[in-house]
Amino acid sequence: MINYNEPLFRPPAEANSLILQITLGCSYNQCSFCSMYETKKFTRRALSDIFKEIDLLSRYDDERRVFLADGDALACESSFLIEILRYLKKSFPKLQRVSSYASPYNLLEKTQEELDLLRENGLSLIYYGIESGNHALLKYINKPMKPEKIVEGLNKATQANMKISATVILGLGGKNLSNQHINDTAKLINACEHINCLSTLQLGISNTKEDNFFKRFEEKNQPFIFCTDQDMLEEQKRFIGLLNPQKPIIFRSNHASNALPLKGTLPKDKNALLDILEAAEHNQSMLRPHFLRGF
Ligand code: SF4
Repeated sequence: MINYNEPLFRPPAEANSLILQITLGCSYNQCSFCSMYETKKFTRRALSDIFKEIDLLSRYDDERRVFLADGDALACESSFLIEILRYLKKSFPKLQRVSSYASPYNLLEKTQEELDLLRENGLSLIYYGIESGNHALLKYINKPMKPEKIVEGLNKATQANMKISATVILGLGGKNLSNQHINDTAKLINACEHINCLSTLQLGISNTKEDNFFKRFEEKNQPFIFCTDQDMLEEQKRFIGLLNPQKPIIFRSNHASNALPLKGTLPKDKNALLDILEAAEHNQSMLRPHFLRGF
């Protein structure tokens, strides 16, 4: 019914949502590990085309959930986003949730008043890639946001009463930067007022990105050495052990990249999750086979 501009990505939790492509690509598109939108030039689609699609879709469905694609719809001006949010509300009377990806840059560029207004008009959930809380590592992967700025942006979204679903990437610093990566990432999460849902992914790099990814580490005399499954479990253990969130976090490692799927609420389930990790370190059969994994 809709001719999407491929490739099209959406968070796993949006599997049953209507996907509305209001932009193409990612406005930043420079993270060294990410190949999602490498074939696309960031474009904001015409409002008239978006409205036509909403008209078409609302004839057949009474959607409750809409995801605004592509990579960081929040890069668009707030007035543009608000027009779309209002049109969605009018077209889908049962609408309960509108969500989008948000980059660190998007949240910092928007004022608190803009985020409040977006929330009032229905944008209730953002998906945010923290990746790491270590500033040096964030520079190596070419997403050089200062950790305190990441916290500032996320807290602005919380203040606007938006829910946050965030991801961090295990193994992102390789063996050499593992300690800094995990310690600083846990510190960052603990400094946030409220991350509602937190997921870990395990690093994977596409062939097209490999050379540049490794080069950026080598240039800083930090050759990148991939973490083994055992290292990843160790990172996960240290990470969960250090998490002391200000408000309960729904924790997941069910993304297909993970060796060991986990789910629980932190801090309540911390010890239970650590016990599972401990058991998996001694029992490889608990791990997802490599052929079933993907980043
Ligand atoms: S990780 Fe996110 S911000 Fe970075 S290039 Fe990919 S989509 Fe864009």
